Amino acid sequence: MATDTSSAETPTDGGSPSAPEEGEPAPNAQAELSSYEIVNFHFDAAAERLGLRDDFAHVLRSPYREVSVQIPVKRADGRISLFNGFRVQHNGARGPYKGGVRFHPDVDLDEVRALAALMTWKTAIANVPFGGAKGGVNVPADDLVDDEKQKVARSYIAKIDKVLGPTRDIPAPDVGTDAQTMAYMMDEYGKLHGHTPACVTGKPIALEGSLGREAATGRGLLFLYQEAAPDLGLKPEDTRVVVQGFGNVGSWAARLLCELGCTLVGASDAYGAIRSDEGIDAVALQEHVGDGGRLGEFDGVEEIKPDELFDIECEVFIPAALGGMIHRGNAERLQCRMIIEGANSPTTPQADDILAEKGVTVVPDVMANAGGVIVSYLEWVQNLQHFRWDEEAVNDRLKTTMRHAYGEVKSRADDQSVTLRRAAYEVGIDRVADAARTRGYIT
Ligand code: NAD
Repeated sequence: MATDTSSAETPTDGGSPSAPEEGEPAPNAQAELSSYEIVNFHFDAAAERLGLRDDFAHVLRSPYREVSVQIPVKRADGRISLFNGFRVQHNGARGPYKGGVRFHPDVDLDEVRALAALMTWKTAIANVPFGGAKGGVNVPADDLVDDEKQKVARSYIAKIDKVLGPTRDIPAPDVGTDAQTMAYMMDEYGKLHGHTPACVTGKPIALEGSLGREAATGRGLLFLYQEAAPDLGLKPEDTRVVVQGFGNVGSWAARLLCELGCTLVGASDAYGAIRSDEGIDAVALQEHVGDGGRLGEFDGVEEIKPDELFDIECEVFIPAALGGMIHRGNAERLQCRMIIEGANSPTTPQADDILAEKGVTVVPDVMANAGGVIVSYLEWVQNLQHFRWDEEAVNDRLKTTMRHAYGEVKSRADDQSVTLRRAAYEVGIDRVADAARTRGYIT
């Protein structure tokens, strides 16, 4: 398929191929191009192709509201640490703002802005009735002890509660936060506003969380593999998978793809990487990591440097860690036929061009990792009705929604001879523009 990747000039990224020191956490191969610039690059290219007027495009590109708060926390050892908390509400034309909260030391306003914008396009592509938002605290989540994480979560909500709520803005988990964190957030919001389970999603099952939510993003990647693989003539039994970032999204994607018949041949996380040409038992590895084990300690695998993950021959490469990790310094080395983006913004625009040259199909983040927000939507719907669906019903609806999104994006990509990423942005922006115009947002 001939693809148009260049209606706007691709900006340069600063990714470098240098390998991290052995035994050290693998650094995020930080691109000089900021995450926000990457999202806007894709937005501008799609907006131009859609023929949006510059002044209107400027409104759609810009965040609606940005909240920045201080979060002082008394640590277990008595010290006070001061963190910064952010919530960016990017666009609410199609419904309440929706997006995760990230606890990670690298969080800053620019990154949160970028992730909020991605959520606007993602909810529109999935066609769930939400806008886009994101939150974050620049806290080293892995180093927090005792009740420090709970204190951060409660303080964050208490400081921004006025802009939250089931019809305003509904947070969810992201990197460094989980169902337990959402429980604290729901409880804190409830203290201020009364019991309101629909105020956050991704909650524990015991607190009106939805069955199927934990695995939802990984399951969404599985569904898109099932949609896209036949076009490449790929069958599960011939599909070797490499996962970068064996966390929630990565481990569930690996596990579900292996259940389908694929073979996991490589995986990494912040602390190391492993490979095995014979295949890695994804279920056992997920349990091993869940019990606090390191990837390198898992039986029957070869420990490698994190950077060497890019050299493993495979059919499907799944980035499921942080942004900017596939860049011009390593894209050429990738040995796969398809990338399914679990992480947000894992691929820089320059890497996109290199991958298009190589004929690698990229199933983009804005569509591929929408499983989480789709099941968050289903959780919100259940909460508003105080009703619970069984897991099969949730997974079925997730599948239908993902298949529908893929079908629309794929047919636009084929009709217009553009990449799936370009087509996905066009579908999303079209919907948001339509909603903004129709509700008379600009007076
Ligand atoms: P997580 O914290 O559960 O997992 C992240 C994983 O990445 C961890 O295993 C971590 O060790 C690893 N990692 C961190 N730095 C790394 C590095 N430099 N090299 C290799 N691995 C590294 O988070 P998650 O919820 O699985 O989210 C992963 C990605 O998916 C993020 O980009 C997130 O924004 C995106 N995402 C998540 C969801 C969701 O529902 N959880 C939904 C959509 C998108």
